[in-house]
Amino acid sequence: MKTEEKKPKPEEKKQIKAKEKKPTPVTQEPKLKQEPKLKQEPKLKQEPKTQELKQKSKLVDAVVTADTVDAVVTVDTVDAEKAPVIPKEVSEETGVVIRESWKPKTSLGRDVQSGKIKTLREVFDSGRGIMEYQIVDYLLKDPETVFAAVGQSRGKFGGGKRSIWKQTQKKTREGNKPKFAILAIIGNKDGYVGMGYGKSKETMPAREKAIRQAKLNLCRVRRGCGSWECNCGEYHSIPFKVPGKCGAADITLIPAPKGTGLCIEKECQNILRLAGIKDIYSKSRNKKTKYNLLNACFNALANLSKMKVAPAQKARTKYIEGDK
Ligand SMILES: [Zn+2]
Repeated sequence: MKTEEKKPKPEEKKQIKAKEKKPTPVTQEPKLKQEPKLKQEPKLKQEPKTQELKQKSKLVDAVVTADTVDAVVTVDTVDAEKAPVIPKEVSEETGVVIRESWKPKTSLGRDVQSGKIKTLREVFDSGRGIMEYQIVDYLLKDPETVFAAVGQSRGKFGGGKRSIWKQTQKKTREGNKPKFAILAIIGNKDGYVGMGYGKSKETMPAREKAIRQAKLNLCRVRRGCGSWECNCGEYHSIPFKVPGKCGAADITLIPAPKGTGLCIEKECQNILRLAGIKDIYSKSRNKKTKYNLLNACFNALANLSKMKVAPAQKARTKYIEGDK
């Protein structure tokens, strides 16, 4: 038809166009008529069946006519494809879901998932921030999680038993609204440690939040032997004295010779143990609030990495950053 249209005069063209316009609605009309018929007929027949399909997504094969039914079947199959269960890996220790078909949103996440980056050292050397906790799941080898006793159960005059849950309450018209907080410390005992604080109305979500935060706050620790008594050149202590602060709490970590152990408050020992430090002296002030003290200790370890070191000092202490 198109080849014929080009040849005739403009007047004829108009006529042809008019003719073309006319038949097109004619073609559309039957479609409109046909479609509802086709749809209505199977629907009337299949209504009970479709309900069954929605309920159990079974009995798809037992349908009569082929052409009209295909549409219905495809819709059901799509729903079925969306539905299937996502594979989950749950950690044995904490019961927290580690990987649920992770879709990385950052470039670092994509590099880690594709295997381009294989160690935490590469991540920290590049200076890229860890924005997704799954990165740590992939890269941190043999992680250990510890919950610090930041709260206490009921008891007057400080007589309550220490617990990992810090329970607080808000008074409302309906009654008391409790809230739980927990502090998680994660580390591989070889130069990497993280600390996170999570709060929620229930205990389990708070714990998951805390662990997630701990993974995001991962810190690379400098280790060495800065003790004048020892001077062995191994990585059992820290290379130099370092201060840390949080609120009023104030702590100073001091290098110690081999065999000293962790001469520090009990909960802070966990942070240092998970960082891979074996010997240390310490000095602290205003340590009444446990959370502040722990945060100050973690802050000190972070300061350790921030400290600028003169090349001569670096050569003398021979410290390492992160794992060996
Ligand atoms: Zn030493």
